[in-house]
Amino acid sequence: MPRDYYDVLGVGQNASEGDIKKAYRRLAMEYHPDRNNGDKAAEEKFKEATEAYEVLRDPSKRQRYDRFGHAGVSGAARGGFSGGFTHFDISEALNVFMRDFGGMGGFDSIFGGGQRARRARRRGQDLRVTLDITLEEIAHGVTRKLKLKSLIPCEVCDGSGARPDTSTAVCPTCGGTGEARRASQSIFGQFISVGPCPQCDAEGTIVSDPCEECRGDGRIREQRTVDIEVPPGVSEQNYITLRGQGVAGPRNGPAGDLIVEFRVAEDPRFARHGDDLVHDLLLSFSQAALGGDFPVQTPYGEEQVTVSPGTQNDTVITLRGRGLPNVSDGRKGSFHVRCRVWTPTKLTPELKSLLKRLAKVEGQPPSNESLGQKLWDKVKEAFGA
Ligand SMILES: [Zn+2]
Ligand SMILES: [Zn+2]
Repeated sequence: MPRDYYDVLGVGQNASEGDIKKAYRRLAMEYHPDRNNGDKAAEEKFKEATEAYEVLRDPSKRQRYDRFGHAGVSGAARGGFSGGFTHFDISEALNVFMRDFGGMGGFDSIFGGGQRARRARRRGQDLRVTLDITLEEIAHGVTRKLKLKSLIPCEVCDGSGARPDTSTAVCPTCGGTGEARRASQSIFGQFISVGPCPQCDAEGTIVSDPCEECRGDGRIREQRTVDIEVPPGVSEQNYITLRGQGVAGPRNGPAGDLIVEFRVAEDPRFARHGDDLVHDLLLSFSQAALGGDFPVQTPYGEEQVTVSPGTQNDTVITLRGRGLPNVSDGRKGSFHVRCRVWTPTKLTPELKSLLKRLAKVEGQPPSNESLGQKLWDKVKEAFGA
């Protein structure tokens, strides 16, 4: 014959809910298996106290117990399973303790108590979009309008999914806790694990009379336009996360994020090296030999570069601060102009005779390789290689 529940907790018949809770907590802390090195007698006391608490904390079970004794709550402590009287096993007792005192007892780590299923509302999906941008847009930054097909909360039911003037009902499977208990067998005995309720998806409520507009989902389709501010200096390695701009969650769950990725269009005029840009300037043989000012296109418009007389092929002229802005500090990189000497391929009779005259007076190119090496060193310096 089990002991009287009031005696077990050491409280009187008129004890308040608060008294019962306090008395149980004191006993549970004293006999908790974690504090008693698995002592069997302590474990029995812990289970007994938990069982008494589980009946007396619930007004209707307590009333039945007061009227009919233990027979009135046959199995009631175990959440109302029918059948003969069954005592708690240790994992169930621990679950009860964790449920009501998990955050207070300092035992959060045991049996995954800290990860009890919460009534977390389901979150909407993230939306991923790819924006095509040009180097000019990267240089200045740009605001782009983007059309998105997405889901927003249904206006008819305010996102609840329930037909207006009806309400959501408590989930019959979990009784509104959003949690489902599952028993599993392990070498240590039976464990009760607690997970999200499959019927209500941990929401604790179900929609019995769904909204006609959204069919109970709480969301409707829509197309909306968002302004995306592309900061200067982005590359394909960067992306922007706009919190809460993704798909709305079902039945007022939190919205997902909008993740914007970038695809940088190829630009035949420039090659990008981080924040630096390289531009090839084609010079004829006479332009390279005579030098002069030549226009070049940068992302900020046209610039003049001064080519000195006697400029060799692959000479690099660097314009500082004319490259792309750094995405984090905004400082601009360099714009490198690489001089490429172009040789005519189609010789007119006139050109041919002029070149022949030139050949007689221009002399021989240097035979050693030191000039080439010097040029190569300059190229490497300019590119920081
Ligand atoms: Zn609706
Ligand atoms: Zn449920």
